[in-house]
Amino acid sequence: MKAEVDQALRAGDSVGGIFEVVAHNVVPGLGNHAQWDEKLDGLLARAVMSIQAVKGVEIGSGVSNATSYGSEVQDEIRYDAAARRFQRPTNRAGGLEGGITNGEDVVVRGYLKPISTLRRAMETADLKTKTPVKAAYERSDICVVPAAGVAGEAMTALVLAGAFLQKFGGDSIVLTRPATRVTKFDADFETLCADMFESMYAAQGVGLAAPQIGKSVRLAVIDVTVGKNPEAKLVLVNPEIIHAEGEHRDEEGCLSVPGFRGAVIRPQFVTVRAQNAKGETYEMRGEGLLGRAFCHEIDHLNGVLFIQHLSLIKRDLIKRKIRKLSKRGEW
Ligand SMILES: [Zn+2]
Repeated sequence: MKAEVDQALRAGDSVGGIFEVVAHNVVPGLGNHAQWDEKLDGLLARAVMSIQAVKGVEIGSGVSNATSYGSEVQDEIRYDAAARRFQRPTNRAGGLEGGITNGEDVVVRGYLKPISTLRRAMETADLKTKTPVKAAYERSDICVVPAAGVAGEAMTALVLAGAFLQKFGGDSIVLTRPATRVTKFDADFETLCADMFESMYAAQGVGLAAPQIGKSVRLAVIDVTVGKNPEAKLVLVNPEIIHAEGEHRDEEGCLSVPGFRGAVIRPQFVTVRAQNAKGETYEMRGEGLLGRAFCHEIDHLNGVLFIQHLSLIKRDLIKRKIRKLSKRGEW
């Protein structure tokens, strides 16, 4: 590839190519077969095609499939008794069937045309005189394939995260709408707080918000020691963040989005003002995991799931990758 680019450079030419994005561990069942504008392969194709210079998009081995026989293209289904799941030894479908993910890796390719500005200028016509002239040359890269791969990864991630949210956000309306303030601190409310801790410990979580158990009220419980230290038990009623500083990037998960983790940037230090189970107001400063838990649980009370932050992260990822590429003179 490098030699090809070097050769194009020497010839005053530019060169295109193909990038491939592979998404591992994609949940089966994302997307929809019933409506043309909800088919996930279509949405992926649109997103990847929208990247500058992409003139073709391929899912799986779609291009070569067109010149093969059916027996060479279908992915056979087998049953793996040990793993207790159906499997396919091949993935020519690229993880998508009927517009829906099938649990295999999602494979998307973008076909890039060569950049149009050439040092060895091509023929064009002068706007005024209509006579043939050579096209102007300002500056031009030779090949954008490595950089476009980064953009392709981000576009694929955006589409998959959106499909995920549509599927799982839609299953629980309570999780996607802002919860209401707590005004009654009676015996029933104390019972609810106790239930929350019980549910959280049973699931081995460090935090739980009331909307996660179907109660749309501004209540969350946190214990970053997962029951090891009784003093770490926190009840946050009507909490709000009154101060935040710094940045901390770490993996985050959620009991309502099982099996799915992603890196989210949160403040390093977070101070919350909240009421306890009796309605008394208190303030608390949290760092690292505790600060992260404050943000995550308050997000829940506002109808926000942590995966909604992933697009921002992907943007950050692109910026850092571009910076790295430009340092090496590849952007
Ligand atoms: Zn959560």
